[in-house]
Amino acid sequence: MRLDPKALRYMSTEDFRVLTAIEVGSRNHEIVPAPLIAQLAHLRGGGINKYVSDLVKRKLIASENNSKYVGYKLVYAGYDYLALKTMSKRGSVVSVGNQIGVGKESDIFVVAGENDEEVVLKLHRLGRQSFRNVKRKRDYFKQNQSPSWMYMSRLSAMKEFAFMKVLYEHDFPVPKPIDQNRHCVVMELLDAFPLRQIDEVGDPGALYSKLMDMIVRLAKHGLIHGDFNEFNILIKSDGTPILIDFPQMVSTSHANAEFYFNRDVDCIRTFFKRRFGYESALYPKFGLDSNKEFDLDVQVAASGFTKKDQVQLEKLIENLNVEDRDGESHEEDESNADEDESPDDSDHDSVASRDSNEIVDDNRYDENDDDPDYIFEK
Ligand code: ADP
Ligand code: MG
Repeated sequence: MRLDPKALRYMSTEDFRVLTAIEVGSRNHEIVPAPLIAQLAHLRGGGINKYVSDLVKRKLIASENNSKYVGYKLVYAGYDYLALKTMSKRGSVVSVGNQIGVGKESDIFVVAGENDEEVVLKLHRLGRQSFRNVKRKRDYFKQNQSPSWMYMSRLSAMKEFAFMKVLYEHDFPVPKPIDQNRHCVVMELLDAFPLRQIDEVGDPGALYSKLMDMIVRLAKHGLIHGDFNEFNILIKSDGTPILIDFPQMVSTSHANAEFYFNRDVDCIRTFFKRRFGYESALYPKFGLDSNKEFDLDVQVAASGFTKKDQVQLEKLIENLNVEDRDGESHEEDESNADEDESPDDSDHDSVASRDSNEIVDDNRYDENDDDPDYIFEK
């Protein structure tokens, strides 16, 4: 998935209104009908045809037919646009630089932040691979709206930001959280490499202890990382480990807390044995070493990412994982197929050259450009 900064530059007020109208219309419509777009966009003179066809051409929206009518839906590039626009207005992202990571469920870029310093932009892309299977399991959501990649990715970004913030405030070694909007999180750029890429450490035993202490300290604060492995632990040049990637964190009061805790511990034991030939009889045990002394999960809930959000995101992620194990997850996402990256059209040069990618904010349109939270209210 590319992030096309050029698309950010040339956007008229009308284009932007129409794009925002489609985002708002997505609240109740999987495919937003043209008359609703026209109504929400409030364009002087009415007609939206020219703007929607332009947005389709630029691959920010897709046109689709649901047998009753032809309508439009936002695709990832359009959602990226809206988030970047908001963050550029806030000053947290000034321009887009190199892509440094492509995860299964995220894209990571180095971008320029407020004082032109380099920061990390993480775009959450939940459902990129197995959305089609999630759609088949609609029954989870009978009472709610259907799960969409937009909803899931936004929830995931909100969660990551909420946890990172609370952990940072309690002096855990995590990146400094800077901003969050829609499916995007902006955070400090760490001068560090994933443990995965490190073949030798001076004292594996010392690092092992630091990591196990971190798992225990998290648990004493009521939290389990849930994906505590060599990919999500970055090592600074002085050897300090930093923890990243928080969308799957759970509370120690979660029904499966012991399972998640043990899995985190085992990941580290297995990795240290395999990579450094290091084994220790000492490792933390759930219940013995993890007694809760602080309630950070409560603080996370208080920060805006509620228990209800947590439960819903958990169900979605579980659902995606179940589908993964079924071996069906790598089917093309039928609904997002046209925004998927094809190998030959990724525009790496334009992403790489930061100066030419300044986000131009024409300031002509001020309504509705922040995250319209109400879109996802039930
Ligand atoms: P995913 O959810 O896709 O696994 P991560 O948050 O783990 O995403 O990030 C993926 C990769 O991007 C990391 O392994 C790391 O190499 C890089 N990365 C992520 N955040 C940062 C950061 N703040 N500073 C430097 N590199 C980062
Ligand atoms: Mg990761």
